[in-house]
Amino acid sequence: MYKKVFVTGGSGFVGRNLKKYKPSWHYMSSVDCDLTDYRKVEKYFSTHHPDAIVHLAGRVGGIKENSENQADFYHKNVLINANVLRAAHVCKIDRVLSSLSTCAFPNKVEKYPFTEDDIYLGPPAPTNFSYGMAKRMLHVGSVSYRKQYDRNFSTFCPSNVYGPGDYFGEESSHFVASLINKIHNTKKHGIIELWGTGKPLRQQLYVTDLCRLIPILLSEHNSEVPLIVAPDENLSIFQMADISRKQLNKQVEFVFNGNLEGQFRKDGSNASLKDLVCNMRFTKFSEGIEKTYQWFLENK
Ligand code: NAP
Repeated sequence: MYKKVFVTGGSGFVGRNLKKYKPSWHYMSSVDCDLTDYRKVEKYFSTHHPDAIVHLAGRVGGIKENSENQADFYHKNVLINANVLRAAHVCKIDRVLSSLSTCAFPNKVEKYPFTEDDIYLGPPAPTNFSYGMAKRMLHVGSVSYRKQYDRNFSTFCPSNVYGPGDYFGEESSHFVASLINKIHNTKKHGIIELWGTGKPLRQQLYVTDLCRLIPILLSEHNSEVPLIVAPDENLSIFQMADISRKQLNKQVEFVFNGNLEGQFRKDGSNASLKDLVCNMRFTKFSEGIEKTYQWFLENK
């Protein structure tokens, strides 16, 4: 449907996986264009004039990095998102599909799983308040350009993403990548300390599932709805740790330190997604861990 598709954040975790799946698209990094600088963004888009933009770029990080750098997350994400939408509009690029996150949803809602209608019903979790609010503003911007200028700017909200190519073992790594790294580096019967109580529930989205969906959403998702992209499974931190130790063939013990517990649950409904994309099948967490660990062993 679109011949010349540019992906912002193309050098990131999701972007690199998307490239394997859609090699004909063009993948941008901050080296190609610093998206925090409006003039550079407009110049870049007017020079290359893509038909469509998949907007993934941003300051992204795990719970610790997010909670300790709220001003930086706010500043960078607000600038990048505002610039991408404005420059696309000014350069008459009619299609922008942007990634939000389920972190944009309220810390607590009355009924779980939450749906797209719930997004403004309360503030995001304090641990990712500015990241979540910046994502909401990306939704506000997309809806505003739709309303005022009739642009096909739309958004989707992935839950936590994991898989091959994630950042393993760094300070800023996500839970699953950090878990795999810890289990791998611990003796067969060792002890691993994890944050929180192990009870919070999370939907972990296998990155390839997301990458298979993005081209479909680019052609099919033309509405204001901040479409939730989340798997059916909603596992506790302990269940994930347990599945992972089995997949890595270790008998390690987990000790939970009670710190940085995060939200108890943040599961979103994938009913709207399944209405739009029939026959959507999500990778089971155990299968995703197996494939991710295989990648880890081949690339560590
Ligand atoms: P990531 O690995 O941290 O990648 C971030 C990307 O943004 C990189 O390509 C980076 O380019 C680019 N970027 C950062 N600052 C930039 C700037 N000033 N100018 C141009 N590009 C810049 O992030 P990700 O995990 O792939 O996430 C992709 C999208 O999915 C994000 O919108 C994120 O909010 C969303 N999401 C991710 C998750 C998850 O668990 N990963 C969950 C929900 C939603 P450089 O490499 O050049 O720095």
